[in-house]
Amino acid sequence: MKALVKFAPGPGNLDILEVDEPVCGPREVKVEIAFCGVCGTDLHVMHDTFRNYPPVILGHEFSGTVVEAGREVAGVTPGERVTVLGATAVSCGTCRYCREGRFIFCRDRRGMGHGVNGAFARYVVVRPDQLYRVPDHLTLEEAAISEPFAAAVQAVTEVTEVRLGETALVSGPGPMGLLCLKLLVAQGVRTIVAGAAGDDLRLAAASRFGASLTINTAEEDLVQAVHELTGGAGVDVALECAGHPASVRGCLDSLRPMGRYTQVAICGREIQFPIDRIFYKQLTVRGSICYTARTWERMIEIYRQGRVRLHDLVSVKLPISEWRTAFDLCADRKALKVLMHP
Ligand SMILES: [Zn+2]
Ligand SMILES: [Zn+2]
Repeated sequence: MKALVKFAPGPGNLDILEVDEPVCGPREVKVEIAFCGVCGTDLHVMHDTFRNYPPVILGHEFSGTVVEAGREVAGVTPGERVTVLGATAVSCGTCRYCREGRFIFCRDRRGMGHGVNGAFARYVVVRPDQLYRVPDHLTLEEAAISEPFAAAVQAVTEVTEVRLGETALVSGPGPMGLLCLKLLVAQGVRTIVAGAAGDDLRLAAASRFGASLTINTAEEDLVQAVHELTGGAGVDVALECAGHPASVRGCLDSLRPMGRYTQVAICGREIQFPIDRIFYKQLTVRGSICYTARTWERMIEIYRQGRVRLHDLVSVKLPISEWRTAFDLCADRKALKVLMHP
């Protein structure tokens, strides 16, 4: 089968190659991929700024249909529509974090799409415990957004304390920011979304998705706009979803005293920021990385209840052969979510 492979270490070294179709072991399940999302992590793997283990097939945000279940696998039937928790592909199972269900901190962990083969291909083989069934009303396009959506579910509903009647700031209108926005809106939280130059398409989407106010910081002063909307109080909660120094600063400056800051994006470098803001305002600062398996179960329940839909987040679908175009669209922020299909 054809697959998008990081074939050697270092920057670049990415191309469509002919690889062997994976063989389904007795305790495994083979999935035919429907859609796989392009993510910032894929760009980092391409540039070699995210740990990877070549040769490896990229792609970790995907949905598909079960085509084969190993003979020792119970309860999985070919034809079932699924999405897959790829981040648990390899973990030790015995360390403190694995035992707590916090597999993300396991030192031996390797996720699909960079640590082991991922889903920019026709087939993957996974363990049955990695599968999550897609509710009937959900499309496979939406289900392919499950991985980043689970990260947003953790950030908004598990890590960050936020209540009805409060005001939140989402800084960075990329797919992660827009997913956080959708969850905040579903919870009835008034939400401001901030973006930078070049984010117009994404800020327009934020307005459609229920943001109370969108701010392009290239044209408007964020702190001033927050001041006006909140009667001078500042926001209760800020989610940093851009991974940019100016966005970090904007969040710290926009928060009210005793406010809550959550780091959702990767900055990928050391940055300078006014740490005294945390002291003088007595802020609570937390990070949110990925999710647990329990988060995925709750996400499926959110799908089932139908209050949050993700179909309007997919703006481009391309075959894997056009991966360069897909990657460029993400890098240039010219799309919302870009999906590829085999
Ligand atoms: Zn991702
Ligand atoms: Zn472990």
